[in-house]
Amino acid sequence: MTYSLFGKKFTRHSGISQLMADMNDGLRNPEAIMLGGGNPAAIPEMERYFQTLCRSMLTDGTLNEALCNYDGPQGKNALLTALAAMLRQALGWPVTARNIALTNGSQSAFFYLFNLFAGRGEDGGLRRVLFPLAPEYLGYADAGLEDKMFVAAKPTIAQLPDGQFKYHVDFEHLKVGEDIGLICVSRPTNPTGNVITDRELLRLDTLARQRRIPLLIDNAYGLPFPGIIFAPATPLWNPNIILCMSLSKLGLPGARCGIVIANEEIIGAISNMNGIISLAPGGLGPALATEMIRRGDLMRLSQTVIRPFYQQRVQQTIATLRRYLPPERCLIHTPEGAIFLWLWFQNLPITTEALYQRLKQRGVLMVPGHYFFPGLETDWPHAQQCMRMNYVPDAGKIERGIAILAEEVERAFRET
Ligand code: PLP
Repeated sequence: MTYSLFGKKFTRHSGISQLMADMNDGLRNPEAIMLGGGNPAAIPEMERYFQTLCRSMLTDGTLNEALCNYDGPQGKNALLTALAAMLRQALGWPVTARNIALTNGSQSAFFYLFNLFAGRGEDGGLRRVLFPLAPEYLGYADAGLEDKMFVAAKPTIAQLPDGQFKYHVDFEHLKVGEDIGLICVSRPTNPTGNVITDRELLRLDTLARQRRIPLLIDNAYGLPFPGIIFAPATPLWNPNIILCMSLSKLGLPGARCGIVIANEEIIGAISNMNGIISLAPGGLGPALATEMIRRGDLMRLSQTVIRPFYQQRVQQTIATLRRYLPPERCLIHTPEGAIFLWLWFQNLPITTEALYQRLKQRGVLMVPGHYFFPGLETDWPHAQQCMRMNYVPDAGKIERGIAILAEEVERAFRET
């Protein structure tokens, strides 16, 4: 078959496709220890809540209404209005329904936004997206219509007690060239669990405004929902910021609902793209979220169920890791949010890609670090020394996975 350039680019094997395929295979194998993917945990209290919510929405007809009608291209009006009111009240942001658009998952929003602000311009020049702090989310890597659309900056690394470390934006070397059309950062960060500090975020905001380009903050794990954030952090929005949110990490990844909060011009652009690409975003997730806001449950459950669940899980997982792997073998990025631990095997004699293959053979899935450096133009050995694991499965499974990880790390050292 002869594919177009678009076809060639979007059908090639990408990191995200490999990850999704491995996850899918793993999900079908009950023996596999899935520490690889980004699926949120099945939190019993949330599952019960969603079941009760769906039952009552089935009874009162709102579920039927969402299933049987198209929404407008900006997304379900009731959610736009309810969410804007919630954000005004909870965070004091000056937003109305005209500042919000919905998409089929935030992944589709990144595709829209990257290609809206970067790519080939009318003058023929290539504008690019800057990730000011690599490692960054693997899902961004292939979302550009043009090749070489991303550029990333290496972080500085602060060593912390107890075998932990933290990445910071290296402002001294950060260059926002004329070719940059958008700055993008995930906060909390997938894969590292980093939460860039308020000061760092404000500096990025200033840089973006000076350069008259938007700052995209990917808030898939952040505040005010799903609230998987354990470090002090102030949510930030102004008309130059595009804040992307999602229902996925609340426990609803199947709803495929992304939320974009931005100035009215950008929201208009997103709505028009929605119209062309999907007519309208799906309505089921938005109907659930509207009802959760109406009942006062969206922020309450984030604070009282979701955040404590992950916080307990991460502490337990770090304790388990340390029983099997001392700091000389493995450093851990300080866990400040999201659902992952980022492990740094500084002296490992093999790459983490080789380690990933060995772990996969033994039924343990984690993701090798090199995928998480989209746009980094230089080879950086650090990228081959890291690995991402989630802490979503139950403690017993996590411990079995960590025991196998420790065995494979020791084997790699023995072999040299
Ligand atoms: N942003 C980050 C940082 C993520 O980790 C993920 C999913 O893992 C997403 C966005 C995508 O979320 P959605 O399910 O809304 O497309």
